[in-house]
Amino acid sequence: MLLLVDLDGTVWRGRTAVPGIPELLAERAAAGDVVAYVTNNSTRHRADYMPRLAAIGAPADISLVVTSARATAVHVAALQPRVDRVLAVGTPGLVAELREVGLTVVSAGEAAEVVTDGAYRVTAAGDPQAVVVGLDRGFDYGRLAIASACIRAGALFFATNRDPVFPTEYGFVPGAGSIVAAVEVASGVAAISVGKPGPLLLEVAADAAGLPLDEAVVIGDSLQTDIPAAHAAGVASVLLLTGVTTIEHLDDLPEAQHPTAVARDAGELRTVLARLAG
Ligand SMILES: [Mg+2]
Repeated sequence: MLLLVDLDGTVWRGRTAVPGIPELLAERAAAGDVVAYVTNNSTRHRADYMPRLAAIGAPADISLVVTSARATAVHVAALQPRVDRVLAVGTPGLVAELREVGLTVVSAGEAAEVVTDGAYRVTAAGDPQAVVVGLDRGFDYGRLAIASACIRAGALFFATNRDPVFPTEYGFVPGAGSIVAAVEVASGVAAISVGKPGPLLLEVAADAAGLPLDEAVVIGDSLQTDIPAAHAAGVASVLLLTGVTTIEHLDDLPEAQHPTAVARDAGELRTVLARLAG
């Protein structure tokens, strides 16, 4: 099987590993499963995850760490007709992922020039063919105006993900989806989102593993992202109750949107995976 495993709330919570999960994943890998990680996080280069996965004893192969930044880069680089120049609204991690697949990343300064207060004109020198928006902690009016100007001038519009917020130890903070929404409103164009709950992130991960999606099982803790992504991609899913979801959340959900199976912890996940494999 190809295990497409979410990270936050599934493999770890904050700085701590979810008990038993790294060991179980290592066990499944030793038995022949391929373990890939699929996270909506758009801020880091995937190499940043390697030491952390290794430290908790989870199987880790950099080609199988598929963040929404990596998946968006791979997806955009494969477009036909070809896209060469991209304006990135995001972190250095996102820019690094876009460059690594051969895309030229145009800065906001290159993409547009100030014409008058608050108005920007897309420059011939920059002229990106696509705009990629992820979580950008330095987002401001100028970046909003420039990204929107490029999209209005005809650039394709991709979002790494639409997570509206994400949890920190101090409470919820705005996620990439908040920034994507601002650019959608300002440009009048709906983004194509690569992250979960859409299927694209899972498709890129299966490609990276060289396995068909029908051998995949999504393992995650979110009924907003992981399980609907599995449904969108047409693959089996296991909801882990180790993160943001409790069993009561399933009561409010139509049967067609339920996961294939539910596991309270690593022990139950072991049983469920053995059943799905058989
Ligand atoms: Mg999660």
